[in-house]
Amino acid sequence: MRVTFLGTGTSTGVPVIGCTCDTCRSSDPRDTRCRPSVAVRLDDGTTVLVDASPDLRAQALRHDLDRVDLILLTHSHADHVLGLDDVRIYNFRQRGAIPCQGDARTLADVRRMFAYVFDPRTPQGGGLPQLSLCPIGGPFSFGRTVFVPVPLRHGTLPILGYRVGAFAYLTDCSEIPDSSWSQLQGLDVLVIDALRRRKHSTHFSVDEAVEAAGRIGAARTFFTHISHDLRHEETCSTLPDGVALAHDGLELTVDETTPDSALAAAAVQLAAMHE
Ligand SMILES: [Zn+2]
Ligand SMILES: [Zn+2]
Ligand SMILES: [Zn+2]
Repeated sequence: MRVTFLGTGTSTGVPVIGCTCDTCRSSDPRDTRCRPSVAVRLDDGTTVLVDASPDLRAQALRHDLDRVDLILLTHSHADHVLGLDDVRIYNFRQRGAIPCQGDARTLADVRRMFAYVFDPRTPQGGGLPQLSLCPIGGPFSFGRTVFVPVPLRHGTLPILGYRVGAFAYLTDCSEIPDSSWSQLQGLDVLVIDALRRRKHSTHFSVDEAVEAAGRIGAARTFFTHISHDLRHEETCSTLPDGVALAHDGLELTVDETTPDSALAAAAVQLAAMHE
């Protein structure tokens, strides 16, 4: 499968409005960061969008995102869901609703934030995004591909990361719960939150992300949800081998087969969650 980073910035995007710091004025295109999202093009030709950022329209145009077959939401913060109205065009072209999965809290927030979409009294003239909201209860299949939700802590908020095959996407986290580590074994590519150098209450700092990446031991690790405190080139030169900042437009090829060990770990964890 092919993973495309549509956005690797924190909630403000980079450059930050009105800021004149070195990163915000940098001429290196890797220092320009849209709000965070990835597209995963599966081997069967379908496309999975992880989060719908407020920059979705521009991201889709830039990266030729010509279809979306499944939307996975990590949580309901504005930088991850405010692009949902832009999926209308995929509804028109694909002639149907798009399944949209997340945890129950996230989907409840989406219903509230986009109340007009789910209100039968809304006039249909302008077109509404058609989303089939499906809560996630554990690992699930989409076509031949298995997706494993990975519970994370974003400050005190429980949110989801996702694993598919040898790829895991863990945005917006400040803690990986004990029971989630076993779901992250045998990764080729780990994507993990690293906001800035200084500590933050709801995001990993660079040092915390390096430590987590070392414990997970993926072959390649990329940081995302990056603030303007971090310049691409300068920061990458300080990171351990195999660890780098992601950047908008970065594309990776990863094996989409999920090993049985990760599925077994997810099943154990799910049982623990329901106890
Ligand atoms: Zn975020
Ligand atoms: Zn700045
Ligand atoms: Zn968030």
